[in-house]
Amino acid sequence: MRFEFATASSILFGPGVVKEVGGLAAKMGKRTLVVTSKAAADPSELLQDLSANGLAFDLFQIPGEPTLQQVEEGRSLARDQQSQFVIGFGGGSAIDTAKAIAAMVTNSGDLKDYLDVIGTGKSISQMPLPVIAIPTTSGTGAEVTRNAVVTSPEHHMKLSLRSPLMIPRLAVVDPDLTYSLPSSVTASTGMDALAQLIEPYVSARHNPLTDAICIEGIEKAARSLFKAYQHPRDVSAREEMSLASLLGGLGLANAGLGAVHGFASPIGGMFTAPHGAVCARLLAPVVAVNYYAVSAPEHEQSDYRIQKDDLLARYEKIARILTGSPTATIRDAISWLEQLCLALNIPGLADYGIGVEHIPELVEKASVASSMKSNPIKLNAHELQFIIENAF
Ligand SMILES: [Zn+2]
Repeated sequence: MRFEFATASSILFGPGVVKEVGGLAAKMGKRTLVVTSKAAADPSELLQDLSANGLAFDLFQIPGEPTLQQVEEGRSLARDQQSQFVIGFGGGSAIDTAKAIAAMVTNSGDLKDYLDVIGTGKSISQMPLPVIAIPTTSGTGAEVTRNAVVTSPEHHMKLSLRSPLMIPRLAVVDPDLTYSLPSSVTASTGMDALAQLIEPYVSARHNPLTDAICIEGIEKAARSLFKAYQHPRDVSAREEMSLASLLGGLGLANAGLGAVHGFASPIGGMFTAPHGAVCARLLAPVVAVNYYAVSAPEHEQSDYRIQKDDLLARYEKIARILTGSPTATIRDAISWLEQLCLALNIPGLADYGIGVEHIPELVEKASVASSMKSNPIKLNAHELQFIIENAF
């Protein structure tokens, strides 16, 4: 057995910990760039705290998921102002933008060159500026991941800038910041967290550390996601969801994902749909297809990236945790996930303008998506089509 586990140099977790950021930031330099998104929680307390600790800052606000151009703009601002580190405050978009800007400040050339597909996949060779990541949603785990998702409107694609050097220096996870999340965002980001715990647990690249982390996280999300949706000010549910999100980030950054994210990536590039809602609708069909594929005669031994028995045992364990029943089967897990989507009012993919005419293109793009490589079984086109058809 050989594995590697990498994460932020420091993770600070707990209600109210955001109040400690000013003091910690003052040790990292005198001037910072603060990246937020329009939808994020109000950053004014954080900004006051930075000033109170003698820090100068420039604010860079993005409207939603970052485009290549916005990252380039942020880089110019950080270079002009000689920012010494970057703070990302918001959902996954704000944190990813902060990570991408921090990497591009110290690395030369166009952002495009560092991306796959539309660029040459040049690697990040220079150490990025340090990043402090402060999530205000509980879903993406971007505070501990090593990539940043950037949109190219010109290519209708979402692409990943990735490097182990991009993991934030400090992750500050404060559940108090999530109380004001709209219920639809609690639902979709929470389902993303759940998908990001289930996929690394059955991933071809799982290891003993990610296994323990994912099981802990699945338990918390299973217990608290619907509670946080119904009762937004439930302290323990919010705390458990912030933790589940962080654990999902640790899992995916070190074990990869699977077919849910293999589809979510091209869907996100072609349509405007919340990532978490898309993942939510794909989750049950992906579990169903992976389960079916375990005993499907058309699969050869070489298609399995983890042992069949191991995969079944892992899904059975997930089923028992999700349902709370010691006798639950994988079919019970699939219907539990379907019921949760309904209870959380997650829209189907058709609501975002995705139609049957898009299936062939989505199947083709998903089959070569990077997340698909760690799905426990190599799925064929027929199986991929089944997944997407059942997410409408
Ligand atoms: Zn995700």
